[in-house]
Amino acid sequence: MTVDSPPNANPGAGASVASPELNAHVRGLAPYPPGKPIEEVQREFGLTDVVKLASNENPLGPSPRALEAARAAMGEAHLYPDGAAHSLRAELAARLGVAPEELVLGNGSDEITIFAALCFLGPGRSLVTSDYAFVRYRMAATLVGAESRLAPMRDFRHDPAAILDVIDDTTAMVCLDNPCNPTGTILTRAQVVDLLRRIPERVLVLLDEAYFEFARRDPDYPDGLTLRGERANLLVTRTFSKAYGLAGFRVGYGVTRREIARDMDRVRPPFNTGRVAQAAALAALDDAEHLRATTELNEAGRRQLEAGLRAMGLRPEPTHANFVFVDLSPLGRGGAEFFDALQRRGVIVRPMGGYGLGGHVRISIGTEAENRRALEALEAERRA
Ligand SMILES: *Cc1c(COP(=O)(O)O)cnc(C)c1O
Repeated sequence: MTVDSPPNANPGAGASVASPELNAHVRGLAPYPPGKPIEEVQREFGLTDVVKLASNENPLGPSPRALEAARAAMGEAHLYPDGAAHSLRAELAARLGVAPEELVLGNGSDEITIFAALCFLGPGRSLVTSDYAFVRYRMAATLVGAESRLAPMRDFRHDPAAILDVIDDTTAMVCLDNPCNPTGTILTRAQVVDLLRRIPERVLVLLDEAYFEFARRDPDYPDGLTLRGERANLLVTRTFSKAYGLAGFRVGYGVTRREIARDMDRVRPPFNTGRVAQAAALAALDDAEHLRATTELNEAGRRQLEAGLRAMGLRPEPTHANFVFVDLSPLGRGGAEFFDALQRRGVIVRPMGGYGLGGHVRISIGTEAENRRALEALEAERRA
């Protein structure tokens, strides 16, 4: 790769030029480190056959129906989308048993978190979450100049007592991912109900169910939408990125009471979900077969990965999502070292050093062949 400056590079770029003054709180943000792309690993190590098990994507790809609908919508790509996403909203509302006005559509559910932060957090206010919860909550708080207060997890599970303990008068929002990414663990229905009742009334609780479609096979797992009677200030978020296999399209949604939905609509960019993406998401809802195939494949893959890891003497956390969280340090090396070594063998996993968990990795559940590749690479490294 050439490092020559491109012809239109800014000639004024350099240390002597004063930059516009960065907002102080933005200085506290580092760009989110996404899973490493397949193309990059291919280039770096001269590999052709690379398996990515790093971003919890659907190994079956998008639903064929979603693709067909997306293709059909492309002919109208010159037209702005319906900013209110009327058709998708109506269909989602009907399926979820909520009013259309109780829905907020986002460019991924990540954007719903940002909307909530823009509305309800700011300087002098705090967000409460767990230390190993999804890192994007903390980033959303930082983005708007709010503080994050982190409750320690217990055995890689959200600890309700610890969460209640760190809430104070400044707390305006509590974020709970259920299941938790990266640990894969859940809070049970009884635990969530208790927590929803005990968190001070004025606080908005964001219950992030990005992995709902995988988790619901467990009878102890609560469907957040059935908990709406427990708490007025509740926002349940879900996404088309995981089980629906549409991560590249960027569609997610939040369900909340209409006053809060209306507030979030104030900060929503007018065309935040694209026309093609809306069409794909709408069609994906109708593809029960693809969703069933996805969750079944995930179940089989979960058993395969868990058994393979246990056979190496490891103890993966019992997962309720489409990834496995495991401490590799019993094998004598850290997660970052394994990440590098596995990469050389064409398998991309996610190191957890960013969470201060140097021994752990998160492995997305793939196809039978992909999981086997990951286990074989790990076994080869274990023996190396
Ligand atoms: C993947 C993920 C999301 C959201 O992803 P989007 O693609 O923005 O919908 C949200 N929360 C958790 C915990 C996730 O793992």
